[in-house]
Amino acid sequence: MKRKPRILILGAGYGGMMTASRLSKQLGYNDAEIILVNKHNYHYQTTWLHEPAAGTLHHDRTRMRIDSVIDTNKVKFIKDVVQEIKASDKKVILEGHGELEYDYLVIGLGSEPETFGIPGVEENAFSIRSVNSVRQIREHIEYMFASYNNSEIKHDDYLTFIVAGAGFTGIEFVGELTERIPELCKEYDIDRSKVKILSVEAAPTALPGFDPELVEYAMNLLESRGVEFKISTPIKEVTKDGVILATGEEIKSKTVVWTTGVRGSSILDKSGFETMRGRIKVEKDMRAPGHEDIFIIGDCALIINEEINRPYPPTAQIAIQQSYTVAKNVKALLTGSKELEEFTPDIKGTVASLGGGEAIGIVGTKKLYGSSAATMKKIIDNRYLFLLGGIPLVVKKGKLNLFS
Ligand SMILES: Cc1cc2nc3c(=O)[nH]c(=O)nc-3n(C[C@H](O)[C@H](O)[C@H](O)COP(=O)(O)OP(=O)(O)OC[C@H]3O[C@@H](n4cnc5c(N)ncnc54)[C@H](O)[C@@H]3O)c2cc1C
Repeated sequence: MKRKPRILILGAGYGGMMTASRLSKQLGYNDAEIILVNKHNYHYQTTWLHEPAAGTLHHDRTRMRIDSVIDTNKVKFIKDVVQEIKASDKKVILEGHGELEYDYLVIGLGSEPETFGIPGVEENAFSIRSVNSVRQIREHIEYMFASYNNSEIKHDDYLTFIVAGAGFTGIEFVGELTERIPELCKEYDIDRSKVKILSVEAAPTALPGFDPELVEYAMNLLESRGVEFKISTPIKEVTKDGVILATGEEIKSKTVVWTTGVRGSSILDKSGFETMRGRIKVEKDMRAPGHEDIFIIGDCALIINEEINRPYPPTAQIAIQQSYTVAKNVKALLTGSKELEEFTPDIKGTVASLGGGEAIGIVGTKKLYGSSAATMKKIIDNRYLFLLGGIPLVVKKGKLNLFS
């Protein structure tokens, strides 16, 4: 008996989950076999990870079991780690399950921290990239507080927290730290003035590319909560004792969190795809160039903003929008159609949280500050949950109290 065409989706992030969800709604049981592979049995919301990293939200709030969200009658879930894609053989190599063949492949393996080859980052810095990594950051910060008072000699580097990169992730994490640090000071009997939060950025401004008025608002607010910005300050090396700046100055710290941007999953390079910063420059229909049966989604895909001739920054917003095009196009190929949809991002806005019920953002052409921006951020988070799992998922996992 001829087997059903197999659609293999790699990665259960925003792109992968939404593609699986869309396909399971659009295809009948006999149309195709849909398989979703992910290294964990849960899906997490990457955009929330700065909160559990600082300890202001439990990590369980950011994640949900994959089989509780997808229709398991239509999508088979395999918990495994993707090791390599063998496009010429139409196969994927998994760590535990061996080889898996596909007819159509959707790659949504997300991103990895961009180190720019700076020595010591991989070995000595933390990164906000998964539930496991943020759990480690939260535990480490708490351990630093616990260790400080337990030692005869007072090590200031235990209470110096360096966040490398003042882009969105760095600023959101710093904002959460300003909420969490006073709680830890109280819990561990440490004076707040002993703790330093440093935001170190190589570019001439925090939040490069963002509206200057909103950037000023964010920086003033965070400075008023004790954050020290070091702007136009490239880091030359990260050591086990802290960071060495391009000027040669050393800042001692036992906690360096690296948030200077991301590159696409290293699996793409390993599998022989042509990439730019680890991302595949996709065709307009979201396929990998030269591969009629492979779609790339989310942080693995590079798309150009033709107005400024630069790549769009990788965001969940774009990953979610791409899933609609990818699901439609996979279905079109299955039904023998050659007419594929072209993807055009529809950027609705950008909101960055600053902790403490504050945020900044642009929605449409409107600038938002303070609590109204924070409310908008929660609405955006809840909207995603609604798209993925309807009202029940919003009730179970959403940020329901919009005004606090
Ligand atoms: C702190 C933070 C805040 C952010 N805030 C925003 C925001 O406000 N708005 C916004 O639009 N974007 C935001 N982003 C960016 C956004 O999170 C990403 O662009 C988005 O997650 C990309 O979705 P994705 O599906 O490509 O990858 P991801 O959501 O990262 O998912 C990738 C999945 O692949 C799995 N995986 C990876 N490697 C393997 C492997 N080898 N085998 C099996 N499974 C694997 C991972 O476990 C994960 O489940 C933020 C990012 C961070 C870190």
